[in-house]
Amino acid sequence: MIIHLKKDTGLEKANQIAQDNKAFLIEKADKFVLISSSSQKEFDSKYDDYVLDTFVFPNDMQLSSKTYMPTTREIQFGNVKIGGNTNNTILIGGPCSVESEAQIQQSSALLKELNLTMLRGGCYKPRTSPYSFQGLGLEGLKLLAKMREEHGLAVITEVRDATHVHEVIEHSDIIQIGAKAMYDQGILRACAKTNKPVMIKRGFGSTLQETVQCAEFVLSGGNDNVAICERGIRTFETKTRFTLDLCGVSYLKEHTNLPVILDPSHAMGHAYGIGDLTRACSAMGVDGLIIEVHPDPSVAKSDAAQQLNHEQFKALYKTLPPIASAVGRTIV
Ligand code: PEP
Ligand code: MN
Repeated sequence: MIIHLKKDTGLEKANQIAQDNKAFLIEKADKFVLISSSSQKEFDSKYDDYVLDTFVFPNDMQLSSKTYMPTTREIQFGNVKIGGNTNNTILIGGPCSVESEAQIQQSSALLKELNLTMLRGGCYKPRTSPYSFQGLGLEGLKLLAKMREEHGLAVITEVRDATHVHEVIEHSDIIQIGAKAMYDQGILRACAKTNKPVMIKRGFGSTLQETVQCAEFVLSGGNDNVAICERGIRTFETKTRFTLDLCGVSYLKEHTNLPVILDPSHAMGHAYGIGDLTRACSAMGVDGLIIEVHPDPSVAKSDAAQQLNHEQFKALYKTLPPIASAVGRTIV
């Protein structure tokens, strides 16, 4: 249940009401917002003098639900806004991993050439083998920060576990919570305490409900800036790396107020399918697309098979504006 309390309730009283109801408390400029379990369906009438509004929900998708906030939340995504009434589809590009200054300089130059504003690149890689490249860590974060300074690009980078979450919060513009880290409570709780935007990637074995509840961990701690990324789920199919759940995307758009970003690269797992998939995603009228692109994919230290080269990325980029425009969107 969500309860809005009048601002003149005062912080002390609001805190006490929150405690009585085992609720989270968020202080806004014009009200207090209490969020308790969705199993609570009524609010004691003894608090009537303090109450502005109450909202009841069938499950724990509450702050993220369209019932509570009927339009997609507007989020500052680096240099551009997504969600709200913007109709923007942000195209994010960059390598799977930050590997060297020379590499990330080339990626930045590509984005600048296309007037794109956000660079991706992992520094803490959640690899499936301990013997694979694990990322440059803090050194990589510093390279991303350098790209921000030198090129004015915003950067999105992933947090693998709670040990370095504060470093990622400090050095990134958008915090990416990876598919394998989606359930990490340490990460979610740390991200709840900042106002930096967070993009939560859906775990490949997670339901939509579970994914949105991870977003609720961040929202209920007071961070309003959460987007969801669909990056493919595991099905019986083995010919592609994962299966991009576009039905799930429709569900998220219909029922939640969270901006939706699509990652065709990790879903497909092979460069050959990325162009078609990205165009299909763009036609769904989503808030963002995140694509892996590398100056020389053949030597990439992670996800080599799925990264586009610069020519492929440019060719793909050219085809997107008319598709986006057909569904009322602008590629930014
Ligand atoms: C990535 O974006 O490089 C990545 C590791 O993605 P995911 O968490 O979706 O596997
Ligand atoms: Mn990758």
